[in-house]
Amino acid sequence: MNWEPWTGCYPISDGCRNCYFYGPHAKRYGQNTIEKTDKFDWPIRTNAKGEYNIKGGKILATCFATDFFLPEADEWRKEVWKMIHQRQDIEFLILTKRIDRFLESLPDDWGDGYGNVNLGCTVENQEMADYRLPLFLSYPIKRRFIACAPLLESIDLSKYLHGIEHVTVGGETSRFARECNYEWVLSIREQCISSNTTFWFKNTGSLFKRNGELQKINPFKQTSYAKELGINILGDRRLF
Ligand code: SF4
Repeated sequence: MNWEPWTGCYPISDGCRNCYFYGPHAKRYGQNTIEKTDKFDWPIRTNAKGEYNIKGGKILATCFATDFFLPEADEWRKEVWKMIHQRQDIEFLILTKRIDRFLESLPDDWGDGYGNVNLGCTVENQEMADYRLPLFLSYPIKRRFIACAPLLESIDLSKYLHGIEHVTVGGETSRFARECNYEWVLSIREQCISSNTTFWFKNTGSLFKRNGELQKINPFKQTSYAKELGINILGDRRLF
């Protein structure tokens, strides 16, 4: 399930150029104003019996269509942290391209991290990996994953994979997508095998190069094509 407590976003790095939600060819293009959604308090809403509408044991993908650490959401995030802390029975997957705002965005009781927060740092190229991942690894976070999405070039993650539970890789989805080369995907997979990290090839992107052939892939087939390649390495937790 996805939980978007706010909507709206704007580019922060090269991976945002054709953003699936807010890029120049996306439905929400121009929606750069950050606004609370009507699902803002969704995790703590209850029914007439006082039971949570969202049952325990669920996984909530949080801010996958915006960015959790947008400065415009600083005040709202304080409430969101409280909800996350209150729902220890839910796993929250949080994805961000703004990991450098992590320390200034924490609640007072964060300590060494909430056990139900799985924080994902997005890196699209080597430059962003070398900037964001040392910061990411230096912060107090209990569960970390990396999302190489959209994967824009070959990335060497090997020196950053200690303390990372999982890596997700995906190509860019857009009419103007940049190439995702299968060799880059396989290289990251090998790095994950060497460091005992789980790996998921989520989608091929719209322009996928494999065996020297550049293929245009329909958006509705990008996930199934990636799955058919059979290269995922799944662990016990099955969060991703
Ligand atoms: S941070 Fe994410 S949601 Fe925001 S513009 Fe970039 S790709 Fe889009």
